Order: sequence, then structure tokens, then C-alpha cells
Amino acid sequence: MIDKMNRSEKAAYNWLRRRLPSVDIIFQKRNSPDFVTNTGDGYEAKLIRSNAITFTYGQLDRLIDFGRVSVLVMEQGAQEPIAIIPINELKDSPRYWHQYRVVSYGPMPENDVVCHCQDCETTFIVKQGSRQRYCPECVLKRVKHIPTKRPDTHQDGR
Ligand SMILES: [Zn+2]
Repeated sequence: MIDKMNRSEKAAYNWLRRRLPSVDIIFQKRNSPDFVTNTGDGYEAKLIRSNAITFTYGQLDRLIDFGRVSVLVMEQGAQEPIAIIPINELKDSPRYWHQYRVVSYGPMPENDVVCHCQDCETTFIVKQGSRQRYCPECVLKRVKHIPTKRPDTHQDGR
């Protein structure tokens, strides 16, 4: 199960394991919250990026509907959450929770696809497209790192 998690989910999972050693924790790869326990609690790991916590289409509503959810705010590379947000504190879709910006999208428009970047783990949305492995920023970085070889034999007739 742990091999299907991204880095921040893994860190959150290991932290939960340490904190709740006698509780069963199930990972939901394709659903929210990320983790549910046999005690009826839910945990959603959120990687914080540019001081923002982002919920994809309809996700905040799903978490609120679930009820007992804690949002584990993870920094890249950290082994424990920097903040734990009880989901009911996000019920009114506040723009900020303490010093953190909260970004939340409503229901998902048809044809949009939610993707998770394999490099930076950010969540991004592709309009009317198909699933992408890397976010636009990381795609650019990757393109820059491909050595480009200019054919110097090219003649354009000048
Ligand atoms: Zn990326």
C-alpha cells in the first residue's frame, strides 16, 4: 500500500502509524480522505506549496461530508505535519486558515482532469485534456534539461 503513495502521503502515513500504533489505517488512492481508520477518522495529507493548501474539485465538500477529518499539512521532505486542521474549521471555505492560504475548487467541470505531478507532487488541473504526469512547471524544467543539439550543417540558402 505504501508504494502507491506520493512522498507527502508516505510521510503522513508513517507519522500516523507512529501516533496511532494500534489503529488500522486504510489508504484511499483515488478517494478523499487519503487515510481512513477503523475508528472512523479520516486524514487528508496536503503538501503546502507557496503557502497555499489546495483542494481540488469538490474535494473539500467530500471531506466535510466525511465528518471526522483532519487535514495534515505537510511541507516537502518533512516527516511530520506542520499543522493539523480540523475539517470543520474549513466549512465556510475560508481564504486563510491561520497564516496559510486555502484554495478550494467547487464541483468539477466536465472534461477537466485533476493530475498530480510526479516530480513536485503539486496538484494541477488540465482543461479538456488527458491525464498528465508532470505539472506545466516541471515539464518546462525537464525540457530545459534535455541537451539540445543543433545541426550545424543546416543550410538555409543564405
Ligand atoms: Zn511539478
